[in-house]
Amino acid sequence: MKVFNTMSRKKEDFVPIHEGKVGIYACGPTVYDYFHIGNARPFVVFDVLRRYLEYTGYDVTFVQNFTDIDDKMIARANEEGITVKELGDRFIEEYFKDATALGVRPATVHPRATEHIKEIIDIVQKLIDKGIAYQVGSDVYYDTSKFSGYGKLSGQNLEDLESGARVGVGDDKRSPADFVLWKGQKPGEPAWESPWGMGRPGWHIECSAMSTTYLGEAFDIHCGGQDLIFPHHENEIAQSEGAFGKSFVKYWMHNGFLNVDDQKMSKSLGNFFTVRDILNEYEAEDVRMFLLSAHYRSPLNFSREMIQQAHASLSRLYVARDKLIFLQGHTKGDELLPGEEATVEAINGYVLKFNAGMEDDLNTAEAMGALFELVYLINTDISDKSGKKLVDTALETLLRLADVLGLLMKKPEDSLPEDIQKLVDERKQARLDKNWALSDSLREQIKEKGYLVEDTKSGQKVTKA
Ligand code: AMP
Ligand code: ZN
Repeated sequence: MKVFNTMSRKKEDFVPIHEGKVGIYACGPTVYDYFHIGNARPFVVFDVLRRYLEYTGYDVTFVQNFTDIDDKMIARANEEGITVKELGDRFIEEYFKDATALGVRPATVHPRATEHIKEIIDIVQKLIDKGIAYQVGSDVYYDTSKFSGYGKLSGQNLEDLESGARVGVGDDKRSPADFVLWKGQKPGEPAWESPWGMGRPGWHIECSAMSTTYLGEAFDIHCGGQDLIFPHHENEIAQSEGAFGKSFVKYWMHNGFLNVDDQKMSKSLGNFFTVRDILNEYEAEDVRMFLLSAHYRSPLNFSREMIQQAHASLSRLYVARDKLIFLQGHTKGDELLPGEEATVEAINGYVLKFNAGMEDDLNTAEAMGALFELVYLINTDISDKSGKKLVDTALETLLRLADVLGLLMKKPEDSLPEDIQKLVDERKQARLDKNWALSDSLREQIKEKGYLVEDTKSGQKVTKA
């Protein structure tokens, strides 16, 4: 597989440090609120990275942290009159609800910053012992002039950074480019004991501590959004390589932004939609499909039309799957029928095309194209005249590829009974024809059969009454 490495600024062959195993660290959310659909992009695309690596046979350890202590956490907990711990517990639970809905599998480990204070202190102490960090009162700073590689990830040099940065009021840093590792306690803030007095970690140090704890001092892939390249990941490198004296991460992968009118979606700009809100309007899988419709490094504009298109495409995927499930019960034979070898060859060709897309720096858009070519083949070349062997092969392939993207997650049992589906389809047509009287009467008929229809932007949402 080739991956674009932010460090070298080019696509490189992916060769893990330990054969057959891959360690991935992804920077996770700060758990002070619901996450927005921009935050969902890295969660979904790196979930696909993990799924693809597993599909190709690697044993993957995927670590994604929760930042559960920082200024925003403290401010929000104060506003709500609860502790930082209570706030963190609450939004970690909410994270799992939304992430699960989006088909994001739980990481192998989800470490919390506040549960790794000891490991954090150990690294800070190591940096002080090596003369790379210095204490000022009860704060500790990283001395960027002591790390010759500072700036290598973001492609900047220290002089530019020094002249570009400003020292804030009350800052006791030696240089504007230095950054805080440990902050002395301010009144009313949560704090932990340390060799420098009561205090709390700076932001960057938690990821050096948690990645090392679960993946070792050197590991394969570190990922996150492009906004994390500087200063967060630059500082992680300085901390980890400074403390452990070895190369920290082999491949750095960063996703592009989810934008609103070409501007990064962010809490601070106020131009965001939480996933929780979006899921009231659209089905979660439609949102997932939309997030995977562009290459992960490209910017992607939030677009309701595109989510609706994703819904239409997914429907085609489900129709193909359900057709094959139906045909499994209506076809026979353990051997291919005459002439079916060519169809199987075509199916295998789409698998190769799918893999080739994914091998090219996780090009999910390409891979999806191959998946839909397979759907087209299923629609045109497979019928009740086919042998069961061919039907089985097509279904197994469709499910396997869709699973790499985390699609087709709704179970066939969730599908509607045939008579209901027929009425729903007729109602769809009636609405397209603007025949509202017929549409209303169909809604009534569906209701009499025990199902409720709701009109959403993704189309009709049908639930059991
Ligand atoms: P945060 O909770 O802000 O630290 O963000 C969690 C993850 O979401 C990080 O990997 C960020 O880089 C990423 N992220 C934040 N905003 C966006 C956005 N608009 N588009 C894509 N990724 C984002
Ligand atoms: Zn991080």
